[in-house]
Amino acid sequence: MAINIKNEDCVGCGACVSTCPFGALVLEDGKAKVTDACTSCGACVESCPVGAIAADAPAAKAAAPADAKGVWVFIEQRAGKIRNVSLELVGEGRKLADELGQELAGVVIGDGVAGLAKEVFACGADKVYLVEDALLKDYNTDGYAKAFTQLIEKYRPAVILLGATNDGRDLGPRVAARVKTGLTADCTGLSIDPETRLVAWTRPAFGGNIMATIFCPDRRPQMGTVRPKVFKKPQPDYAKSGELVKESVALAAADIRTQLEDIIHVTATAVNLEDAEIIVSGGRGLGNPEGFKLIQELAEALGGTVGASRAAVDAGWKPYPHQVGQTGKTVGPKIYFACGISGAIQHLAGMQTSDMIVAINKDPDAPIFKVAHYGIVGDLYEVIPAIVAKLKEAK
Ligand SMILES: Cc1cc2nc3c(=O)[nH]c(=O)nc-3n(C[C@H](O)[C@H](O)[C@H](O)COP(=O)(O)OP(=O)(O)OC[C@H]3O[C@@H](n4cnc5c(N)ncnc54)[C@H](O)[C@@H]3O)c2cc1C
Repeated sequence: MAINIKNEDCVGCGACVSTCPFGALVLEDGKAKVTDACTSCGACVESCPVGAIAADAPAAKAAAPADAKGVWVFIEQRAGKIRNVSLELVGEGRKLADELGQELAGVVIGDGVAGLAKEVFACGADKVYLVEDALLKDYNTDGYAKAFTQLIEKYRPAVILLGATNDGRDLGPRVAARVKTGLTADCTGLSIDPETRLVAWTRPAFGGNIMATIFCPDRRPQMGTVRPKVFKKPQPDYAKSGELVKESVALAAADIRTQLEDIIHVTATAVNLEDAEIIVSGGRGLGNPEGFKLIQELAEALGGTVGASRAAVDAGWKPYPHQVGQTGKTVGPKIYFACGISGAIQHLAGMQTSDMIVAINKDPDAPIFKVAHYGIVGDLYEVIPAIVAKLKEAK
């Protein structure tokens, strides 16, 4: 996309100059001028009161390599078990593939992992590319990047989705650089642009204050990572099956510069918010760290897990692994309790796909009530003990 100023229409008001987040517009001889600092973000287009700024539409289909076809999902597995986010992406990938009229494939890399294909087919894939090698038993950056790159160069997919997990965030950019394409990280929405047939990758930008939609018009594959729980895992149908394509890749031990010594499980202290079905989160409205005892009590009564807003984490009331939101975890439980949380956009970015949101806040105008299915206006120090008492009574 390129930004163009129509000199004949520009009145030199400077509205675009103050709007540009990159300081990329200047006034010269009473007319706006775009400098090299322009990132084509398009913020200036709407700011112009006389419509003198235009952004070229993303390059149309014709600009893209025509032979790139198919939607791929990287199937992340650990110790022979598929991570939920990969199956969530198979579900979403299915929709994209259907809209494009192309096939959906999962890419399974590991050793002794052929059995995983069944689950990938059950969740909707037409095909599974399987690479098995003793050197790929556990995830390692060099080996997986080399294997994945070779597959992409051979089959030229149009779209690749990866989970925004530690492994996906490590693998995605490395592979994207090797095949010379772009990658949109941490997407919260995916769709197909009806005009260009490009994937529209949506993600928060500028501190979460706007949602940006990003296109990759000129390169293939179009790549992106998506956080766990942004999409729902499809209901598996084990009657479904597909084509299993076994691939071997040229890989030597010398290609892998790191060696896995040990895996240390930290489950005793870890907080598994992403997989929790019920989350009770506390915010600054608790007033002090002791308030989390009440949150814990409600969580225990419901069989849930404790979450926190960033304000509560920044205050040192809860450690960071409990943080929900744009810079914390993205969660999608069956029930999410927001207690003393105002509902800032950055918090909502991490929990608004929850099936049911219950908000407890003493301010009836708190933004959290706009996304809540049930809202209780009141002091959480009165409301929560009353709920806990009722739950105990019911038990
Ligand atoms: C780049 C960036 C990233 C961010 N990432 C995150 C993130 O990942 N997660 C996140 O949460 N935030 C994030 N934030 C911060 C976010 O903007 C908010 O500042 C934060 O979410 C506010 O937390 P809060 O709702 O707990 O506090 P507040 O906004 O202060 O809200 C407290 C609420 O408690 C209510 N209240 C007070 N006392 C009581 C009571 N006794 N009973 C009931 N209700 C009461 C008040 O009415 C108020 O609505 C980010 C900000 C930026 C700029």
